[in-house]
Amino acid sequence: MFVGLLEVYDKHKCIEMSIPENLHYIKSSLPEQVTLVAVSKTKSVNEIMEAYDAGQRIFGENKIQEMVDKEAQMPKDIEWHMIGHVQRNKVKYMAEFVSLIHGVDNFKLLKEINKQAKKHHRTINCLLQIKIADEDSKFGMTAKEAQDILQSDELSELNNVAVVGVMGMATFTENTQQVEDEFKRLKMIFDDLSNLEPKDSKFKIISMGMSGDYQIAISCGSTLVRIGSSIFGERNYK
Ligand SMILES: *Cc1c(COP(=O)(O)O)cnc(C)c1O
Repeated sequence: MFVGLLEVYDKHKCIEMSIPENLHYIKSSLPEQVTLVAVSKTKSVNEIMEAYDAGQRIFGENKIQEMVDKEAQMPKDIEWHMIGHVQRNKVKYMAEFVSLIHGVDNFKLLKEINKQAKKHHRTINCLLQIKIADEDSKFGMTAKEAQDILQSDELSELNNVAVVGVMGMATFTENTQQVEDEFKRLKMIFDDLSNLEPKDSKFKIISMGMSGDYQIAISCGSTLVRIGSSIFGERNYK
């Protein structure tokens, strides 16, 4: 059976087009209010530069050391997002430049980010990672824990972090109904948390959706999608 191009993209399997072509295809399919994080983990500076030269400025990495190495070699107008699990003792390495940390899943981490941001006279934007998948391996907090953090007096004392939204990862499954239910839950949690915030709050971001599920995520209200393999091709892990 002939497999059309769209279908190849939809399945997010072997993508044989170039990085700029993949990028343009994805960007043209995103609604205006949705921002693209190009997930460049494991990819070389040369590969990332292909996306940069095609206009992409926001890149996501999941390892702090790898992001630090790339940041040093690349143009300074790039916004670097940390999308992976963050160890507290490594926050200091990225505090000078990171523009958004997606995976904040406890208050102690937020405090450390605040401490390191202060040293650089910056405010670092953070997302609270909410566990929506039914897999043990996914990090994240409950809606209640997120609510407690947002309402705590301690948070209001952290002047060098801004909690600007939530992040979540759906279960890795072919069951699109389950994925949709999980994304809908994250949107509901976001809406509930938003109601605790002042009207002019910066709490506006819902980071959900990856190569395999970003269309579903967008239909459920995502404002930030994190897409790697559909842009750069399969990752090579050594
Ligand atoms: C790797 C990764 C992505 C991108 O995954 P793809 O399936 O390659 O698009 C998105 N979010 C997180 C947290 C990741 O670790």
